Amino acid sequence: MAQTYPDHIWHNGRIKPWAEATVHVMAHALHYGSSVFEGIRSYETPNGPAIFRLSDHNRRLFNSAKIYDIQIPYTLEEINAACRAVIKANGLSKSYLRPVAYRGLGGFGLSAETPTDVAVAAWQMGAYLGAGVLEQGIDACVSSWQRFAPNTIPAGAKAGGNYLSGQLVAREARRLGFGEGIALASTGLLSEGAGENLFLVFDGALHTTPVSAALLNGITRNTLITLARANGIEVVERDIPREYLYLCDELFMCGTAAEITPIRSVDGKPVGAGKPGPLTHRMQDLFFGLFDGRTKDQWGWLEAV
Ligand code: PMP
Repeated sequence: MAQTYPDHIWHNGRIKPWAEATVHVMAHALHYGSSVFEGIRSYETPNGPAIFRLSDHNRRLFNSAKIYDIQIPYTLEEINAACRAVIKANGLSKSYLRPVAYRGLGGFGLSAETPTDVAVAAWQMGAYLGAGVLEQGIDACVSSWQRFAPNTIPAGAKAGGNYLSGQLVAREARRLGFGEGIALASTGLLSEGAGENLFLVFDGALHTTPVSAALLNGITRNTLITLARANGIEVVERDIPREYLYLCDELFMCGTAAEITPIRSVDGKPVGAGKPGPLTHRMQDLFFGLFDGRTKDQWGWLEAV
């Protein structure tokens, strides 16, 4: 399905028409993957539209930039303001936001000191992995592609180049008829989905892979750990071998785009009863409850537009 675009975008300090936010073909990022970005959602809430963990996402943007020595010529507050401005300019309430900072035109070669350009786009987006998946779940597979080895490409940065790995994992899964791919780390232990973190359920406790398993330290992952512990649900961060995907009681993926997507089978083997289970439903209720007021936001995660 062709994407339809909103009218306005924020680019290098101002709101402009979508069509005018262009990049030169010789921009550094296009050749070398030298961009850092975020994915953020805004939701309708009883107190008006709110951006979920806006500051935490943009702090991660600055952290990703720090790893690559990308100088962002704005403050955190200015990027937060740009996110709010682009939502307002497009008249959006429930949206997906994409801040991106990239090495632009003005130098050639890997260590060139290029200017950093920054954009923030926002558009309406439904369930990332397809209509109905939050309720029904998806069938996933373990990818033949592994994630990057330690001290090669830093998984803890959300950088454009990292998503070559994600594309291999996601596209292989789709080609084989699966809803999403799950990657192993170079250790052979479980890492994460192409663009989502993983939670497995054993005996009523949540188990998730550690940041040392070549994954992005997801803000949704952190949200679910926090919500679970606040509600007396045990959470264990630990190395998990692949076969436990087949043996767990329940399994789900999480991320800003994917929200909480249940996984009903892996590699053709049913997970638990082969449908979303009770703890998955409980975590969905706690998470989505933040936006309709059923879950009290005691952490200041909802930042007003
Ligand atoms: N892992 C990868 C590789 C991702 O791209 C994402 C999405 N940003 C996640 C995990 C989940 O992160 P978050 O919950 O912060 O969106």
